[in-house]
This record gives sequence, C-alpha cells and structure tokens, in this order.
Amino acid sequence: MNYLPQLQLLFKKYGKKKHPLDYANTYQLVVMVVLSAQTTDALVNKLAPELFKQFPSMKHLAAAHPEKLFPFIKSVRGFRKKADWLVRIAQALGDNKKIPLTQKELTELPGIGRKSANVIIREAGGVPQGIIVDLHVLRVVPRLGITAEITPEKMEKALMELIPRKYWNAAGMSFSHLGRELCRPTGPYCAECVMNSVCVYCKDNKLV
Ligand code: SF4
Repeated sequence: MNYLPQLQLLFKKYGKKKHPLDYANTYQLVVMVVLSAQTTDALVNKLAPELFKQFPSMKHLAAAHPEKLFPFIKSVRGFRKKADWLVRIAQALGDNKKIPLTQKELTELPGIGRKSANVIIREAGGVPQGIIVDLHVLRVVPRLGITAEITPEKMEKALMELIPRKYWNAAGMSFSHLGRELCRPTGPYCAECVMNSVCVYCKDNKLV
C-alpha cells in the first residue's frame, strides 16, 4: 500500500510541532535529551529550570564535577551515569556554539544514540540524517502496518527507505506526537486520527 498521501496529512498536522521537552536553546536541548532517556519529558521539564540556573552553558557544565549535578537530577533514572555523560559532553564540546548537528559527531558523544541525535538535529533545524524512533513510534508504526520491523534500528532503516528524505525531520516526531495524543497504548482514538483510512490495526479491530 502507498501510505505517502495519508502520511503527508499526518506530517502537515504534526511535522513542525515542537518536541515536548521545554528547552530554550540547543545547549539545554542536548542536556534535556540526555536526561530524558528512560525518564518522562515532564520530569525533565520540571527539574530543568533549577539545573540551568546553576549550569547555564556548556562552559559552566564543563567546569563542574558530576556530583555537583546530583541534587538537581537525582529523580532521573540513571542520574549518576547521566551526570558523568553530561560533564564529559560539555568538556568535549567546550562551548554552546560547538554543538555538532551530524549523526556521526553527536553519536560519538557519551549518552547520545541515534534517536537522541535525530531529536537534536530535528529540533535544532539541522539537515535530517535519520528518523526519530522512540517508544511512541515503536508502537504507532507497526499498528499502521507500514513495516513489520520492531527494533529501533531496523524500523528506522525501513522508514528511511519508504519515506522521502525531505520528510525525515517531520516523520519521526509526527508518529511520536500521534502516539502521545491519540494512538495510546490502550484505547487508541482512531475516529480522530488522520491515518484511520489506511491503518491496519484500526481496520482489523474495527475501531472506526
Ligand atoms: S488509526 Fe488508530 S491505531 Fe491507527 S494509528 Fe491512528 S490512532 Fe493508532
């Protein structure tokens, strides 16, 4: 099935919508993306203002001992490891202006994998080099029936083959926003979904 016409409607709806992390600049974005792994965006948004009061830039973070971050981020899963990663990232980059926007350079930094790099590139307006596959995308895409791949790496590769590059920055966050808003783990709200005419899960379960 050709999903593209329907996907274009989805990308129109969500493609430019900002990531739920409430960052003010690319430095804050990088820090919050690292903190948000296996943690809710809401928790990271809540603790971020105090953290950034104390560490307002890469330079401040680079000069810190990881333990100095603990009081601000101790509610985050894996906070010791993440504090260490953040200081090492700041020491490697040295300055807010030196944050790279390529998959290769970002994934060479500790604590940043493909998904995080895709989020940073997309939010910072960089040239897309992949498609964000987060937990929401992992749920939504198989429901739609676009690909049978279920691991992040293989799903991203399949999506990159199916979706033209010009849509890559829009695609991942569109699936993710759809998953956050309507395609919830239980009781997806298919009647309100722009994808319901092509969605396999919706059709098989007679949800519309
Ligand atoms: S139609 Fe329903 S199951 Fe399919 S993607 Fe939309 S909300 Fe999810």
